[in-house]
Amino acid sequence: MNLVHGKSRGSDEAKDRPFPISQAIQACGAILVLDSELNTVVQASANLLQIMGVPAGGACESTPSEVLGPRLLRALRSGLRKGPQLDGPLSVRRYLNGRQCRLQIRAWRREGHVIVEIEPLFSLGKRRLLGSVNQWLGDLARASHPDDLLATLVESIADIGGFERVMVCHFESQGNGVVIAENQGAGGATMLGQRFASSFFPEEQRERFLALPLRSIPDLTSADVPLIPVDYLQQPDLSTSVLAAPSEHKREQCLSLNAGALLSLSVISENGLWGVVVCTSSRPQELSPTVRDATYTLVQMASQRLFLLKARIESAFLSRVQQVRERLAEDMSLHRTPASRLRESGEEWQALFRAHGIVIIARNAVAVVGNTPSETVIRVLANRLADHARGGHWRSECLHDEPLCHELGMGDSCGLLAVALPSTSVTGEWLMFFRPRHREAVYWSGSPLTPVISRQEARAAPLQQPLKCWQQEMRHHSETWERVEVLGAQDLAEDLAVLSSSCEIAELNEKLEEERKALARANEQLREMATRDSLTGLWNRYAMEQALDDALARAERYGEPFSVLLVDVDHFKQFNDVYGHETGDEVLRAVASIMAGALRETDRVGRWGGEEFVVIVSRTDGDDAASLAERLRALVENLEVPGIPRPVTASFGVACWQAGDRRKAVLARADEAMYRAKEKGRNRVERADGASVR
Ligand code: GH3
Ligand code: MG
Ligand code: MG
Repeated sequence: MNLVHGKSRGSDEAKDRPFPISQAIQACGAILVLDSELNTVVQASANLLQIMGVPAGGACESTPSEVLGPRLLRALRSGLRKGPQLDGPLSVRRYLNGRQCRLQIRAWRREGHVIVEIEPLFSLGKRRLLGSVNQWLGDLARASHPDDLLATLVESIADIGGFERVMVCHFESQGNGVVIAENQGAGGATMLGQRFASSFFPEEQRERFLALPLRSIPDLTSADVPLIPVDYLQQPDLSTSVLAAPSEHKREQCLSLNAGALLSLSVISENGLWGVVVCTSSRPQELSPTVRDATYTLVQMASQRLFLLKARIESAFLSRVQQVRERLAEDMSLHRTPASRLRESGEEWQALFRAHGIVIIARNAVAVVGNTPSETVIRVLANRLADHARGGHWRSECLHDEPLCHELGMGDSCGLLAVALPSTSVTGEWLMFFRPRHREAVYWSGSPLTPVISRQEARAAPLQQPLKCWQQEMRHHSETWERVEVLGAQDLAEDLAVLSSSCEIAELNEKLEEERKALARANEQLREMATRDSLTGLWNRYAMEQALDDALARAERYGEPFSVLLVDVDHFKQFNDVYGHETGDEVLRAVASIMAGALRETDRVGRWGGEEFVVIVSRTDGDDAASLAERLRALVENLEVPGIPRPVTASFGVACWQAGDRRKAVLARADEAMYRAKEKGRNRVERADGASVR
């Protein structure tokens, strides 16, 4: 028999393809290729005799009815009329070498052909497959955490399928694989926590994992079986058959996993390929199609439960984020800054985001908690992020390799999730979470403790070499930033941005209030300066004119009388001349002070100019005003001014308000009286109405 080993013998072009359309199948089953009408046998796998008892060469000269039997052919015709493939596998009995055996038949249409897949069904002995599967399904349904669920899954598949090692490899966002659950027989090295660089599962293979969620290679040592007659022009596409011969890449993969038998089952989520369950045994292993399909059922059931549990965990995470947000909302009314909130709740946030350090950089201030790079590094990072972050966030699990971190000391941090604080005005504000190296990465610090390939194995596999190179690629890795964590961080960043600007507004308001007060003080000073006489501190002439107008208005409206005293220091020029200008000033201050101290609250005294003063005496008639003037005169006369041996005296003119008075008129009368006092010898009081004083 002409067996094709390894690669298919297709054209050169086909040889170059990593996953050629296979013209050969595995020896554990047989294939018949029929025309689309199921009238002729186009090709048969060379092992048809062993599987079905019909020689392959003869099959192509026979009718499908002769090869398959009329009943099976009828069932295929009716099944393929309903759809492009049979609803489920058919089971038929055949006599082979004098013994009755059972076969599983699957059929589907593919590119103008009908492909019929034939697999022997082995006896499972005393074992009740359905009972075991049901029991495991129950266990899977009871698992309440993804870790328990996956542990149960690998155990159930190891139990049902009899594999030496069953592991779940999860694909992370950058395409790397990591083994997160494992069941393995005693003695072997664990692969748990092992990481595979994305090149180990290239893109084409991932697509096949999606298109063909179940892949079984029960005997990697058996030679591939060709289809005959070989048709180089019209190769039927067998890639969707579970019997398709493994590609070169797949073989290498099996060798590096030390697998003589392999079963892989895809775990597919709404978002695509989540992972793959890889089952291996070091030696070839018979795998009945019913057992194989049962493992697939377990994986499908577990996948659904897994995503349900994950959704629950995500919603629990988001509700914790919500609690944090509620506290941030309270902070807003308390004018607490993001930095103070970080100081207070940093540890809680660290636990929530599985981060060992957190940074908030807002309004040019850097607030940190936990283990983070230095402030200088953070500022450089923030600047570089402005160019790198698309959609407001940036994340990496391997800062070591990032151009963003080039020549920056990242300390113990391997992972960074940076989320921009959304703001219309300010850029360069970030919330950053730093993660340490993944804890399982310890696994990578050396070679596996015991070689994964046992030395007794005849086929030495190149496992250790690839491990080392993965090790280098994965050395500086943190845990993956989950999509939900990015969403949670973005929610927080949004609140922090609002908190940050509300603090800014509060601060600006405070500043504004201070400035307003300063302005009020300056205005008050200005008003003082405008109305006060700087030498004596009395009201100035302008203020006295205002006061006089007010007094006139009040008198006119309410009939409240008032008087005006005009006071002029006698021979003042001489003080200046004899004792100096400074002493003259001192005399003016002393006169001002003694008069101001002697007046009632309601009376007003101001400096009229030079050595002249004006007093407005409210609610008085001429007599009262004159006696007040007399009192003031006496006080001035008795003044003692340091440095002046002779007495200081002043002359007083008193004028009373008269109905219809004007400011000028009343002042002129007082002035006239004052001059009379001068004329009569000074140091005396004269009344405008001519009445005598004393
Ligand atoms: P009389 O008794 O007639 O009023 O004589 P007098 O010297 O007081 O009057 P005169 O008007 O001749 O002189 C007033 C002087 O007051 C002239 C001026 O130099 C002085 N003088 C005006 N304002 C000030 C001031 O603010 N400080 C000082 N030291 N002297 C002033
Ligand atoms: Mg004068
Ligand atoms: Mg004078």
